[in-house]
Amino acid sequence: MKFKTGIMSFALVAFALSLAVAAPIDDIGALSVQGTKVVGANGQPAQLRGMSFFWNISENSGPYWNADVVNWLAEDWHANLVRAAMAVEDWWGEDPTLSNGAFKGFLYEPEWNRAMVETIVDAAIEKGIYVIIDWHSHYTNDNSNGKQDSAVIFFSYMAQKYGQYPNVIYEIYNEPKDVSWENDIKPYAEKIIPVIRQYDPDNLIVVGTPMWSGRPDEAAAKPLENVTNVAYTFHFYASDNDHLNNFLPAAKSALQTIPLFVTECGLTQSSGDGEINYTMVNTFWDWIDQEKISWAAWSIVNKNETSAALYASASTSGNWTENDLRESGKWLRSKLRGQNPEWTPITGEGPKSSSSSSKQGESSNSQVVSSSSTQPVSSSSQETGPQSSSSTPVSSSSQETNPQSSSNTPADSDNPGAPDNSSTPDASTAIAEFHNATGFLFAANTISVSLKGRSKVELLDLQGRTVSTLWNGNASGNVILSVQAKPGIYLVRIQGEGFHETHKVAVK
Ligand code: MG
Repeated sequence: MKFKTGIMSFALVAFALSLAVAAPIDDIGALSVQGTKVVGANGQPAQLRGMSFFWNISENSGPYWNADVVNWLAEDWHANLVRAAMAVEDWWGEDPTLSNGAFKGFLYEPEWNRAMVETIVDAAIEKGIYVIIDWHSHYTNDNSNGKQDSAVIFFSYMAQKYGQYPNVIYEIYNEPKDVSWENDIKPYAEKIIPVIRQYDPDNLIVVGTPMWSGRPDEAAAKPLENVTNVAYTFHFYASDNDHLNNFLPAAKSALQTIPLFVTECGLTQSSGDGEINYTMVNTFWDWIDQEKISWAAWSIVNKNETSAALYASASTSGNWTENDLRESGKWLRSKLRGQNPEWTPITGEGPKSSSSSSKQGESSNSQVVSSSSTQPVSSSSQETGPQSSSSTPVSSSSQETNPQSSSNTPADSDNPGAPDNSSTPDASTAIAEFHNATGFLFAANTISVSLKGRSKVELLDLQGRTVSTLWNGNASGNVILSVQAKPGIYLVRIQGEGFHETHKVAVK
């Protein structure tokens, strides 16, 4: 619990009692598939947004596979989804047949790999966010050395242990390479899905698609039959011309008939490296937001490549500052903080009092305009590390870099001035959320927020749909806006010059 006093030039005294509302798992609940959408417990489209860990076998990644990092991603990045990308046939370092020569995938070291996944899954469940158990393979259709048998053992174990937790999503085949949907991937899925369903009748299962999960249209042409709560994988690397020109149209076509889940995506080339083209990045993310498709971005690692979120300075226990984040990490953190509400603890049954302290590395100043969502600033790389022998396909196309994101732009209306809702707040109720970056205060069903310049404040439902626009116009200083809505949990999205923030509030 935290009291904070701040004095602003325009006389907003920002103090607040922080009350928990609900963790993502409480808000969204068990996932299921209805038609072409993955929906939450209330039947509305559920767009999860978060981060994928890099291969667990990398020394630049493995140390981050812990609960501290999961907690940091939930609390500071507002991620409501993490992905445990567990290596299968790959290894890092020397020959995997050497006893101590390598960090080896599940085929070589099953217990070690399984324990790493369990660490992430346990932390995500504890935190009330979603987690993808990712069989991070490119070749599982080939059973010549027992890969499919290992997948049966692995998913059988995971379904028995975690099937009762709605947090868990099974990704049974990361990126099939150069194989047929009908002859290779579909038969594999028909083998693994019943193994999971034997123990877990309902959690979401995501099935890979041809061409590194870039061609879900091939699955759409002959989808799995007699399955429930199954979605299909789409992966994209936004700055890759091939992905823009071929994979994105394939995904749009597939989405006419099957549900998609983006278990992996990046701002960069498909190699995981190369330049970032923000025009293309925004093309992909505008589509993904429009369709409310869930996504996990690649990746949490301090490797020296542009898709990596972290520099080597980033602690393996979280508490990262902006200087610890590479360009991709800065953009993704800003994106997540702009769309996902603040993390709040699990309540199990509705709002409940709890504390919500501010995080280390975040400004404690209660002045208005946040700097936490400014656009990425590139800085020099620092580290080197071993290279994967199994990285994703390389594209060498080079794109013009535009470091300005055009998404999440501020108010688009010319209507200046007054809020469109002037009714009297209900003073008999009070629940407050305070965020010290924007001086946001919600109490007695009124919003007190400091705005500067062209600004827009909207009340959204938990699916991100606008319930009402509370402010849209110019402002300089503190405004108080009344919220009129049915009791329940909502999001307040604030957009202004150089910042965008989303907060979760309970209307009583
Ligand atoms: Mg279940």
